[in-house]
Amino acid sequence: MRPPMKPLDEALAELLDQAQPLTGAETVSTWDADGRVLQVAAVSPLQVPPQDNSAMDGYALRTADVPQAGAELPVTQRIAAGSAGQPLAPGSAARIFTGAPVPQGADAIVMQEDCEAQDGPGGVRVRVNARPRPGQWIRRAGEDIALGAQVLAAGTRLTPAELGLAASIGLAQLQVARRPRVALFSTGDELVMPGDVPPEQMRPGAIYNSNRFFLRALLLRLGCEVTDFGIVPDQRAATTAALRQAADAHDLILTSGGVSVGEEDHVKPAVESLGRLDLWQIAMKPGKPFAYGRIGAAHFMGLPGNPVSSYLTFLLLVRPFVLRLQGVRDTAPAAIALRADFDWPRADKRREFLRVRRNAAGGLDLFANQGSGVLTSTVWGDGVVDNPPGQPIARGDVVRYIPFSELLA
Ligand code: AMP
Ligand code: MG
Repeated sequence: MRPPMKPLDEALAELLDQAQPLTGAETVSTWDADGRVLQVAAVSPLQVPPQDNSAMDGYALRTADVPQAGAELPVTQRIAAGSAGQPLAPGSAARIFTGAPVPQGADAIVMQEDCEAQDGPGGVRVRVNARPRPGQWIRRAGEDIALGAQVLAAGTRLTPAELGLAASIGLAQLQVARRPRVALFSTGDELVMPGDVPPEQMRPGAIYNSNRFFLRALLLRLGCEVTDFGIVPDQRAATTAALRQAADAHDLILTSGGVSVGEEDHVKPAVESLGRLDLWQIAMKPGKPFAYGRIGAAHFMGLPGNPVSSYLTFLLLVRPFVLRLQGVRDTAPAAIALRADFDWPRADKRREFLRVRRNAAGGLDLFANQGSGVLTSTVWGDGVVDNPPGQPIARGDVVRYIPFSELLA
């Protein structure tokens, strides 16, 4: 009897359990830290903004000096961004520009559009045409970040926004997880590298190796150092030799193809001869065969060969694993409830990931061919519908949509 299929969530939980964060951190320049994972929380050594400053070009004054619209005040100083003014004498105003520190004593900024400046014998005077509220157009010291506040948690994956925030509190360097070292290989005697054989000379049965391209690019995006071992022939000895070589210096060995239990599938016996392997039938479509094991200290993951299966199992299982190795806590993609503008009457008994794309009416259109080898679906689509086992979809139903942007970043 066949063993029962493993639910995807169970497979993911087991994998994440195995993903102990890598030891060894690295200090990198904030300049180069995009995509890396922060290892220690960033705490602010200052307040941001550092002092009260003007949100407008205009005049700083005391609201008590403008009891009604039309009051006139002498302009006693000029404060531009980057310079500090003098305390403001009662009964006077300071010309001030956006970002400049508010002088001591002032409690409001009036924007220049509400003022008229006149040059007179006694110097410049300003007529204030709108009665100010206390505090108006003042950005308060520390209103963004308080002194000592944690601005970034350990385990945060750095994006351009985080780099800007780290820079805003003066951090020139960041301590990040080291890059996971991943060995990648494809299995399959039918595989040919683009560029090696022109399309019109491909022998019967040969296909181009597509998985190697997207898997490598996906790993690089996740911050990995990738060693590409190329295509391993469908032979036990060659597969074992490649795995043994890869195990030494890598945190993860990732293969595609050869994890079914056909006669030409040599990955399973090869890994078993060097370490241990669990071959899973995961209740997902596309997907299903997936292998996890260990060879020495290295993790091993075997993805299915069918390109869309390979792509989706990577996004749903390998991606969170690789992020967890770097210390990311929350690896789950955010899903959105959206309307299906299609019918899917014969749902599979496995959890299905249907390639769809958002339309201008706010609903989802379905790609016509959902085959597990149809890579065009991954390019046409901008995400997947995560459909529960056995649940048909009727036009108008609200479904769980996961954008690829959640899975590729
Ligand atoms: P396998 O898992 O090795 O039985 O392969 C399943 C299907 O995926 C077969 O049709 C293979 O030709 C195809 N396949 C396996 N590896 C790749 C690859 N790297 N690129 C494109 N197709 C592949
Ligand atoms: Mg194969």
